[in-house]
Amino acid sequence: MTSEAAQISANSVSSVLRGEESAWLAAWKKFPFLSFCWISLFLLIAGGMLAAYLVYPRLYALGQPLNYLFFSGLGVFFVVLGGGLALITVTSLTGIDLLYPHGKRSVTVKVLFPIAVFLAMLVRFNRASLMVSFVKVNNSLTIAQAARIKGNRILVLLPHCLQIDVCNRKITNDLSNCVRCGKCPVGNLIEISEEHGLKIEVVNGGTLARKRVAMFRPQGVIAVACERDLTLGIQDVHPVPVYGVINDRPHGPCVNTCVDMTLVNEAVEFFKKPKLTNLPQ
Ligand code: SF4
Repeated sequence: MTSEAAQISANSVSSVLRGEESAWLAAWKKFPFLSFCWISLFLLIAGGMLAAYLVYPRLYALGQPLNYLFFSGLGVFFVVLGGGLALITVTSLTGIDLLYPHGKRSVTVKVLFPIAVFLAMLVRFNRASLMVSFVKVNNSLTIAQAARIKGNRILVLLPHCLQIDVCNRKITNDLSNCVRCGKCPVGNLIEISEEHGLKIEVVNGGTLARKRVAMFRPQGVIAVACERDLTLGIQDVHPVPVYGVINDRPHGPCVNTCVDMTLVNEAVEFFKKPKLTNLPQ
């Protein structure tokens, strides 16, 4: 067994162990994202109330209609944010799909997530953990919305760094160039995709990933990447449901990365059986 193969094997074993995490641990991993978003919301409301208090004398001077307009707008904005976050929280924790399918990027996530990231940075909370938590919440929302996923056009997106650095096969443009030698997980992932009739692509960045999604127009995406790329990608391709699988980086970021095959198989099973919702969320 080569050292690379041994490394992949060792990762697979540890990955299987990680895959057996209990339901409460899976739920616990969602808390950083949800907690920071709730704190961000309360701070935003406090900031909004302070701003309203400060501008009130000037608004009062400008007349009643402008007063109503300002406070109504502020109220609607906070109701939308708070309501959206409440629905995301309940759906994520219970698996009951309460989300409204508006087909656009979530305003709640768009507004609150950057504030949550900033807050996490202020209190020195690990940014990667926050992003991992976001991916976990996203996966639980995807699972909760299983009944809405129609069709079998599923795209598997792999990062280029899964290919071992000593392999000179050009696989980003044509995956058939991979000879499936077993030195990296790419060959194995191609076989899994073929077995289940899934489209598979290797991409070297977010731009190419978005291009592949736009070209293939999938009904679901299984994306393997680091938590940072997944966090951006999941928001970019919304409303396409994404099941994110965070890669392992035993050699550091972006080089000879690995992936937990148990998690990939869970994602494949989920999309092949959309009604199956008893997966770990
Ligand atoms: S499995 Fe494919 S991509 Fe990986 S080392 Fe072998 S030929 Fe290269």
